[in-house]
Amino acid sequence: MNDKELLETACLYGRNALLWRQKFIGLLPEIHKRKLYEKKNCSSIFEFAAKFGGLSNDQVRLALNLEEKFESMPRLHEALVNGDVSINKLARVVSIATKENEAELLNVVSNLSNRAVETLVRDEKFTGLHVQTLTLNEEVKNRLIELQFKGIDINELISAALNKREEEIAEEKAMPVELAKSRPVPAKTKKLNKKEFGTKCSIPTCKKPSEVIHHTQTFALSQKHDPNYLAPLCKEHHEIAHSINLRVREKRFF
Ligand SMILES: [Zn+2]
Ligand SMILES: [Zn+2]
Repeated sequence: MNDKELLETACLYGRNALLWRQKFIGLLPEIHKRKLYEKKNCSSIFEFAAKFGGLSNDQVRLALNLEEKFESMPRLHEALVNGDVSINKLARVVSIATKENEAELLNVVSNLSNRAVETLVRDEKFTGLHVQTLTLNEEVKNRLIELQFKGIDINELISAALNKREEEIAEEKAMPVELAKSRPVPAKTKKLNKKEFGTKCSIPTCKKPSEVIHHTQTFALSQKHDPNYLAPLCKEHHEIAHSINLRVREKRFF
C-alpha cells in the first residue's frame, strides 16, 4: 500500500470501528434486562461489555441511564438502541429533552458536531444576559463623580451618549447597499458590524469571541453585504445557524 492508501484504509476502518461500537452499546440495555450476559459466563453487564466490546464501566452506566431516561421519548430511545447516534452526544441533550422537543433534538444531534450540540444545550438552559459588573477606569469614575457632585444627572448624560451611538449605527445601516464585488465582507462594513456588536458572538447568551460574519440572508441569493443581515458568530453558533438554514430548506422542498 502506498501512503495515501494506507491512511485512507486506516481512516475507513476507524470510522467503521466507531460505528460498530456505537451499535454494540445500543444493544447493552436490552441484554442487561434479559440477563443474557449470564449465557456468556459473565457476572454482570459490565463484565460482558468489557470482555466483548472493550467498554469501561462508566460508558455502560451511561448507556443504561440514557435508556431509562429516554423511555418516554421513542425517537431518542430508538436512536440509542439502534446505535444511530453516539451516547456522548445523547448525553449532552438528555437534560433538555422532552416528549415535545425530542424530534427536533434528534435532528440536531444527527446533524451537528459535538461542540455545536454543547453550545445549543447551553443556550437552551441559560436565556437572558449574564450579570456583568461595570469596569470603569479611575479617570472616568472621577469625572462622573465630579459631574454628579455638580448636580448633573449622570444617568441622563450616559443615556444620551448611548442613544447617539445607536443613532449613528442606525444611520449607517440605513444607507443603500450596492451589489457586492466579492465574497469577503468589505472592511467598512466589518467596522460597522464591530461597532454594533463588539468582539463577541452576537448570540446574547454566548461569551465566545466572534470568528465569522454570517450572512443571515444567504449571500449567494442576495449578492449583498447588507449590514442589516450580517451577524458576527462564534464557530459553534455559525454551525448551528447553517444547520437551521438547512432544515428550513428541507421543510420547504419536501
Ligand atoms: Zn454563515
Ligand atoms: Zn456563539
